[in-house]
Amino acid sequence: MSRFEYAPAPESRAIVDIKSSYGLFINGGFVEATDGKPFKTVSPSSEEVLAEVSEAGPADVDRAVRAARKAFDKVWAPMAGRDRAKYLFRIARLIQERSRELAVLESLDNGKPIRESRDVDIPLVAAHFFYYAGWADKLEYAGAGEDPQPLGVAGQIIPWNFPMLMLAWKIAPALAAGNTVVLKPAETTPLTALAFAEICQQADLPPGVVNIVTGAGRTGQALVEHPDVDKVAFTGSTEVGRAIAKAVAGSDKKVTLELGGKAANIVFEDAPIDQTIEGIVNGIFFNQGHVCCAGSRLLVQESVYDEVLARLKRRMSTLRVGDPLDKNTDIGAINSSAQLAKIRELSQIGEDEGAERWSPECELPAEGYWFPPTVFTGVSQAHRIAREEIFGPVLSVLTFRTPAEAVEKANNTPFGLSAGIWTDKGSRILWMANQLRAGVVWANTFNRFDPTSPFGGYKESGYGREGGRHGLEAYLAH
Ligand code: NAP
Ligand code: MG
Repeated sequence: MSRFEYAPAPESRAIVDIKSSYGLFINGGFVEATDGKPFKTVSPSSEEVLAEVSEAGPADVDRAVRAARKAFDKVWAPMAGRDRAKYLFRIARLIQERSRELAVLESLDNGKPIRESRDVDIPLVAAHFFYYAGWADKLEYAGAGEDPQPLGVAGQIIPWNFPMLMLAWKIAPALAAGNTVVLKPAETTPLTALAFAEICQQADLPPGVVNIVTGAGRTGQALVEHPDVDKVAFTGSTEVGRAIAKAVAGSDKKVTLELGGKAANIVFEDAPIDQTIEGIVNGIFFNQGHVCCAGSRLLVQESVYDEVLARLKRRMSTLRVGDPLDKNTDIGAINSSAQLAKIRELSQIGEDEGAERWSPECELPAEGYWFPPTVFTGVSQAHRIAREEIFGPVLSVLTFRTPAEAVEKANNTPFGLSAGIWTDKGSRILWMANQLRAGVVWANTFNRFDPTSPFGGYKESGYGREGGRHGLEAYLAH
């Protein structure tokens, strides 16, 4: 099936002003790193260098933690909750005012389509700050006792798939609860975190309350191991999460880990078919599949398998892959060459293990990192593509006959972050949701996020919850 031809509809790149180089954001100002080498961040859709960014070494991390400690003791923890709320509201308003610019910056640095950064990421970032601003003077109702106290300095480490949204998930509840933070963005996507640093300056946030240290794994490790960090909040791979849990074992640091996933998206024969197809597509192709809670394992009831697959393939043929800044783009660039190599490798393993691979005909740009939307059929539970996180636009399809079999297959994974159920029957939704070992279960929808709703995993998907009242508890001493 041919695609509609669309004229190019590029968002303007000129509305964002990217500096050629950035320092670290420590104690309210941008400073030079003392013990790391600068590194470059590129646009994954063109491989163009966007800016040079400082790498924070252990001495820089120490400076940032000291600034955060001082701000915690002298300013932020003693401040009345209603006053902290004003800063958070101000930050939320500034994010809204600068939302177009932030969306372009996010799409440039990360590769995600502007439609998503503009309509999903950045609005949710603002929503998180608004939501937690509302909590700052009501902490005694958060479920952490009558007089809950902040933990102190939080060391926060985030991945590259939702750079600014993960920053908001980390910083908004921490600040509302009276903690100060040192945050390390991912190496490939530091730019919106640095723009956020400017927003903190614009909001007159007291120096040291938010510190941003850019760098790679080494910087994250220095932050985790710093003796004066009271709380470590990490989102990323299960492998690094494990290393972090080991590094803090025996210390009195509190830890929350948001790790990987391999979610089942379960389609029953009575599901509303058109919505279901959209839900499958949104579940796995949203954000190029770089989503920890992506619906990467499609479980289809055998009786509707042929119809679902035929319609899914037809719909996939209409997805537009290309320039992230084009408003008609559905699938943008893969975030890095390393991630592209990982997706290619696992897809090859899928073929080698005997699954059948299919992608629509699709022209990929010559420059940059790209992978076509892909579906594997004939997948068995033992296949690596059914067990491991691919973190790309690749869907593995399995079948089932009965609800009990669907539950068993859905839960047959070391992960437990999310799941989806598509059916007409409310009773079945409730029954299934009770059986599924997943932190979030969506019914007749997928990849819906809301600041009021807790998010987090079971099993190897991590522990602790972010979002909602539960997200505050992780930053309060009981
Ligand atoms: P990653 O390699 O674990 O990296 C995550 C962050 O940790 C990055 O900032 C990374 O730095 C840093 N880091 C790496 N090694 C470290 C160490 N030894 N100590 C401290 N920090 C270290 O994960 P990724 O490949 O970037 O992200 C993909 C993974 O994140 C997927 O598995 C996905 O499922 C998971 N994820 C989970 C959630 C959730 O909410 N559960 C959300 C999004 C993503 P550099 O990247 O700069 O090297
Ligand atoms: Mg980048």
